[in-house]
Amino acid sequence: MRTLAVVGGGAIGLAVAWRAAESGWSVTLFDPAVGSGASWVAGGMLAPLSEGWPGEDRVLEFGAASLARWPEFAQRLQATTGVPVFVADETLTVALDSADAADLRTVADWVGGRGHEMRILDRVGVRALEPALARTVRAGLLAPAEPAIDNRRLLEGLRRACATAGVRMRAESVDTLELPDFDQIVLAAGAASARLAPELPVRPVKGEILRLRHRPGAAPAPRRVIRARVHGRPVYLVPRGDGIVVGATQYEAGFDTAVTVSGVRDLIADAEAVLPGIGEYELAEATAGSRPSTPDNLPLIGRLTDRLVVATGHGRNGMLAIPLTVDATLGLLAGAPVAEAEAADPHRFSTATAPSVSSVGGVR
Ligand SMILES: Cc1cc2nc3c(=O)[nH]c(=O)nc-3n(C[C@H](O)[C@H](O)[C@H](O)COP(=O)(O)OP(=O)(O)OC[C@H]3O[C@@H](n4cnc5c(N)ncnc54)[C@H](O)[C@@H]3O)c2cc1C
Repeated sequence: MRTLAVVGGGAIGLAVAWRAAESGWSVTLFDPAVGSGASWVAGGMLAPLSEGWPGEDRVLEFGAASLARWPEFAQRLQATTGVPVFVADETLTVALDSADAADLRTVADWVGGRGHEMRILDRVGVRALEPALARTVRAGLLAPAEPAIDNRRLLEGLRRACATAGVRMRAESVDTLELPDFDQIVLAAGAASARLAPELPVRPVKGEILRLRHRPGAAPAPRRVIRARVHGRPVYLVPRGDGIVVGATQYEAGFDTAVTVSGVRDLIADAEAVLPGIGEYELAEATAGSRPSTPDNLPLIGRLTDRLVVATGHGRNGMLAIPLTVDATLGLLAGAPVAEAEAADPHRFSTATAPSVSSVGGVR
């Protein structure tokens, strides 16, 4: 049996390890803190359509190809582990002023023109769907095919799936990609990937996010993902069984994951402008994580050497990108690349050549 080392046990590494083990690889996953990175922090939106914008064709096509794979991926995970992951079926982006309303029409025309269903709603239409939203909401854009998942349930499901498929877990940090005991290596260390392969153009982009718990008497959580822009800042509300996830700030701050007072203040103020009732919720958690970002908002999935495949750089869409990343990575390991993932070729940047792997050290 051929041996595979997966370096990094976030959602990407876990999903690759699970599916590789199922398809016959002997898999060992290295991570000192499985599921503790951006995948633990995330909101869970699967939103390539609502985030579409004219000119960003490749980002839209990559995201839509992964979204199309999500139902089968989730169904397979649930069949294997009993863990359901979806928490919402649709996404509703709302406009609070005329400039935002014009932007919604731009997105609807451009994304709709590429064959995806998007529906413009007036004030009455928005309130009919989500009555608890602020009265200042003047229009909406509904993406009926854009669901959301619970990222923490997903991590739990993926851990169980890995265990069932026989993936060996080693709670160790890798400091070189040599790993001589393995036939193939997949690098999936999220924002830390460039520490192991410095040529990869991956950098951390900090994001703060809140988890609000519903309390008796508080307005019910929305049924859909709600997205908006308030004072020029994007904000989103993702329903959970027990409340709402409110995200997210975005800063260039290196690997800093401290939660700032201003981050929490802005998120609460912006969320309250969209859903006034959230003041009654319990502020259950404030967290920050590092998005593994690239210069063009597409991931890096490709072969760097005859033994090394990378699956990283998923930025703010790593949850969305899981199913296509898994298919593409397994395709590379089998020598059969997946055409829909070609836009993620790491060689599209001149700096992404073979990594300089150190021959000393190993794992710690
Ligand atoms: C605030 C916030 C909100 C987000 N919301 C969404 C969203 O709504 N929808 C969406 O699609 N995406 C979202 N994302 C993005 C998404 O979370 C990431 O793209 C995704 O989690 C990346 O997964 P990953 O497995 O590559 O990285 P991570 O989850 O960060 O995992 C990397 C793992 O590698 C391990 N590791 C690092 N170095 C080493 C080493 N040397 N040896 C061994 N292991 C190592 C770490 O311990 C970690 O467990 C959000 C991100 C943030 C921060």
